Amino acid sequence: MREGSILVTGGAGYIGSHAVLALLDAGWRVVVIDNLVTGFDWAVDSRATLVKGAIEDDALVRATMRDHDVRAVMHFAGSVVVPESVSDPLKYYRNNTAASRSLIESAVVCGVKHFIFSSTAATYGTPEIVPVAEDSPQVPINPYGMSKLMTETMLRDVAAAHRFNYCALRYFNVAGADPQGRSGQSTAGATHLIKIAVEAATGKRDHVSVFGTDYDTRDGTGVRDYIHVSDLAAAHVHALDLLMARPTESHRMNCGYGRGYSVLEVLDAVDRVTNRKLDRRMGPRRAGDPGELVADNSRILATLPWRPQRDDLDLIVSDALAWERKLSERDG
Ligand code: UDP
Repeated sequence: MREGSILVTGGAGYIGSHAVLALLDAGWRVVVIDNLVTGFDWAVDSRATLVKGAIEDDALVRATMRDHDVRAVMHFAGSVVVPESVSDPLKYYRNNTAASRSLIESAVVCGVKHFIFSSTAATYGTPEIVPVAEDSPQVPINPYGMSKLMTETMLRDVAAAHRFNYCALRYFNVAGADPQGRSGQSTAGATHLIKIAVEAATGKRDHVSVFGTDYDTRDGTGVRDYIHVSDLAAAHVHALDLLMARPTESHRMNCGYGRGYSVLEVLDAVDRVTNRKLDRRMGPRRAGDPGELVADNSRILATLPWRPQRDDLDLIVSDALAWERKLSERDG
């Protein structure tokens, strides 16, 4: 067991709960703070300590940092629904930007020197060059992306002013579930394609809508870079090692496989895995969706010893499907 512990905010949520597993499996002690609004207490591995509360509760966060000898923060807590950020922007500037400001300040006050932040490809907006590299202009086209970009900016400035370094990991499309079936995407009201498709495959929906068939892509549907959540979680553990080994350096890195699949290719993969045919309904574009978003992942490959283990669309789909079936059994 290593010295001190890692604070994971949002550790009861989809990506956070996988990061908790990766940290525990790597021998770290973990303390989670989660308000359990969209997360679930059962999603937190029993080897971790769960503190129920808000990251903007300074007294709670600082007591947790001190009581658990916290050495680094992995910050996942936040709101993640892009269309909701358009209709309720202040919720995003509160839950993402303002809450992150509080958390970063608590880290500085408590002498926690390393910070890993869940950022997003949405900070690039509609990139002119795909695959998109980290130095591309960050011009978000929705409040969600802007709320995350503002947090990246705070981290940059805090790292310049204090003994503090950070790694902003910019996620592309996260999907799949823990291959050992310990966690997965569980929050109701899914908007993400692979989750929706496996819900349809398990009878929770009767069809999948295809949002737009007239993009300038190989089959006219949107192309995305889908990354397995366990590979993403592993990237966080490597990033943590790097921040600790080189405390004067901060990093911004894309997390993706560098390869895109269209909506129709994803649905074909679901059909292959289930050996059935999903009902697809072609429809209009969804507002705010760029046609193609694929990571240039050369920086993360050059900087971290991270190597994808599950870079296979059928594997991503089959892990997501296995978790969806488990959820169905749980819900009866
Ligand atoms: N998409 C779709 N039908 C759905 C959900 C998504 O056609 O029910 C498309 C969407 O337009 C985009 C891709 O699937 O091209 C991935 O969307 P998702 O919401 O999963 O992630 P995003 O890229 O928007 O973060």
